[in-house]
Amino acid sequence: MLGFWYSKSPQFAKDHKDFWRARLITHFLLFSTAYFFILTVLNIFYFEQLDLALIDCLGLVISLTIYFWFYKSGNVNVTAWAVTLMASSLAILFIISVGGNPFSILWATLIPPFAFFLIGRKRGSIISAIAFSICAYLIYTQQQQTITIGLGSLFNTIEVSIAHILIFRFYEKTRSLAYQNLSNLNDEIKKLAETDKLTELYNRQKFDAELSALITKSEHSQASHCLLMCDIDYFKRINDTYGHLVGDKVLKEFAHLLQQKIGEQALIARWGGEEFVIILLNTALLDAAKQANELRSLISSNTVANMPITISLGVTAIQKSNDSVLKVLERADKALYFAKHHGRNLVCINDNNAHVTCYDTFLKLVDDDINE
Ligand code: GH3
Ligand code: MG
Ligand code: MG
Repeated sequence: MLGFWYSKSPQFAKDHKDFWRARLITHFLLFSTAYFFILTVLNIFYFEQLDLALIDCLGLVISLTIYFWFYKSGNVNVTAWAVTLMASSLAILFIISVGGNPFSILWATLIPPFAFFLIGRKRGSIISAIAFSICAYLIYTQQQQTITIGLGSLFNTIEVSIAHILIFRFYEKTRSLAYQNLSNLNDEIKKLAETDKLTELYNRQKFDAELSALITKSEHSQASHCLLMCDIDYFKRINDTYGHLVGDKVLKEFAHLLQQKIGEQALIARWGGEEFVIILLNTALLDAAKQANELRSLISSNTVANMPITISLGVTAIQKSNDSVLKVLERADKALYFAKHHGRNLVCINDNNAHVTCYDTFLKLVDDDINE
């Protein structure tokens, strides 16, 4: 039963900013639902007070409505407001109904920690101030009616209320700042773990994860994607002739150029050394081969960091069934090896039949296929 209740509430990862707020909301709604259910049953069958049973039944309906709305919408902010208003109203209504007796105003002390946690410092302060003002007013009226409660009680309530709000504001501020700092650090660490330091492109691990997710998605979608493996020709010569720093500059500028030219519809990563991998999203094999050839031609007719360089590329399509990260990379690598073997500054394609051809031959085969 409890497992069912918690499984239906919106689920967040433990490090998600809304995880604990959602937890508190679910705990509270479980408590209020059970509490009102028991009171409704007792008032109908044991105490036979149908008017009270009606009020309890209303509380039960409100609790369940908020719970199911939370389950459907998953909106933590709005539910936090609803739950805070419900809990604060219940406490205040109870305190008013007994005229602030007997020590019922102690219930109001629960409002600031609850409200600050769920709806933040500013709004929590407003709700708490309203609740404490009502308590102070009740004590003021008691002071007028009886001599047993003095004016000191009123001042104590006001002072303690202000101190209570200030202390919980402070606690909430340190809690949310600490959380924010941790969350920023987490984002930074995640970025560092996914990024290649020199080129600021994705690194191999991140690329593998993205490719794996894409292969899984491709099985159930019409979209086709292609993978390009790209290697700078005779890069070692640049290092040997001009030094590693110049080599680094070429790699950086080359990565920047890739981002500029195809970054919008592609996932680009540094595979290692002077090798790059590119996923062209929503692109058929023929278009991918054409784009690869345009890139090759652009590089060979310009300089990169003042160096005349050329690149070789292997192209393959991600297949709809039975493909894997390893298989896609092996096909592209085979095509790249073919390009290197046939003189470099070339684009070679590994087609769906595991047949490797270089660009011009590939175009001819596609033309022949169309004409047949
Ligand atoms: P090929 O045309 O067959 O690809 O020849 P190549 O010289 O490009 O290939 P090879 O694999 O022999 O050399 C790759 C070189 O890339 C060797 C290595 O020194 C260099 N390299 C790898 N990582 C970096 C790096 O981060 N910075 C620099 N400057 N050079 C790197
Ligand atoms: Mg190379
Ligand atoms: Mg290489």
